[in-house]
Amino acid sequence: MYRITNVPTEESHSAIVIGGSITGLIAARVLIDHFDRVIILERDLFTGKPEFRQGVPQSLHVHALLTKGQEILEQLFPGLSTELIENGALETDVVADWRYLFADGWAPNYDSGMTMITCSRNLLENAIRQRLRKYRNLEFLEAHQAVGLSLGNDNKSITGVKVKDRQNRELKLSARLVVDASGRNSQTPKWLESLGYQKPQETVINSFLGYASRWYQKAPEFTAPFQGVVLKAKPQNCQRGGVLYPVENQNWIVTLAGIGKDYPPTDEDGFLEFARSLRSSEIYETIKNARPKSPIYGYRRTENRLLHYEKLRRFPENFLVMGCISDIY
Ligand SMILES: Cc1cc2nc3c(=O)[nH]c(=O)nc-3n(C[C@H](O)[C@H](O)[C@H](O)COP(=O)(O)OP(=O)(O)OC[C@H]3O[C@@H](n4cnc5c(N)ncnc54)[C@H](O)[C@@H]3O)c2cc1C
Repeated sequence: MYRITNVPTEESHSAIVIGGSITGLIAARVLIDHFDRVIILERDLFTGKPEFRQGVPQSLHVHALLTKGQEILEQLFPGLSTELIENGALETDVVADWRYLFADGWAPNYDSGMTMITCSRNLLENAIRQRLRKYRNLEFLEAHQAVGLSLGNDNKSITGVKVKDRQNRELKLSARLVVDASGRNSQTPKWLESLGYQKPQETVINSFLGYASRWYQKAPEFTAPFQGVVLKAKPQNCQRGGVLYPVENQNWIVTLAGIGKDYPPTDEDGFLEFARSLRSSEIYETIKNARPKSPIYGYRRTENRLLHYEKLRRFPENFLVMGCISDIY
């Protein structure tokens, strides 16, 4: 939806979540049980399919959903794991089905009974969005960008969000609670400052980590004693690592990583050569003759930024920041 017919007023018991990615979706699911109306505000448009979108550029790279996260999602969205598997996700035993090379050697393989669902981030988020669309008190307001917060007459509570559509028309949405889940480009520090609050201080730690990823088609005849491979760096000796990650449609995502500006190349030969230089040959041997399904995507915005909201002397009421916003990676 990219239009809202019934604009929430000050009287309505509404919550607004800025950002319709993983944090915003989960926050909205929780808020549905406590508010008459929940609006997820997202500057992208959702196609209704598990597709890439500009707002989450990192989704082209390997995204692992660890067992605990999967359990929490299952509590919030019962049956989600089964649904993902029906749509092509794989269920793997975290220990038996994976080859892990840690700094001090190979991890053993045995049946652990602990499972991990592997799929693309786009498949996961699309499935969650479809679930949320079934709630009558939840709306997605797409193609709208949050541009500011409204401060109440009490001068201490957030009472809504100022938004702009793609024609630059401004709209004010009132809410009893506003959650900013807009990720690493969140404008909250700037918005707070404009309302007379301090900006949070930042701690930045940059290991100059870079990623390059490519999607491959798994050949029907391919067999291996593993479903996925994780080759870790070994500090001092090798600053490079890689992951071969199985996803839906018999695809693999291969993400290569290097720290200290040892960035994996995004050209064909350089990418393969980097894979060959890892501490073990599993990933290189698997992909060297595999059919690529995508270009090679690079990603270097990896500095860790911790925004110290907890140290602010004043912070507005009825407002939360969540997800990749205070602890940014
Ligand atoms: C290469 C890479 C690999 C990673 N691998 C993993 C992994 O394996 N497992 C894992 O758990 N995490 C991983 N992460 C971290 C993970 O990507 C982030 O933690 C996660 O995306 C944070 O989600 P989020 O919803 O907080 O923010 P984002 O996913 O960044 O989403 C922010 C959303 O807000 C929207 N938005 C932004 N500004 C506005 C605005 N003003 N108005 C309206 N909407 C707005 C955007 O369009 C977007 O939809 C990885 C990160 C990178 C870079």
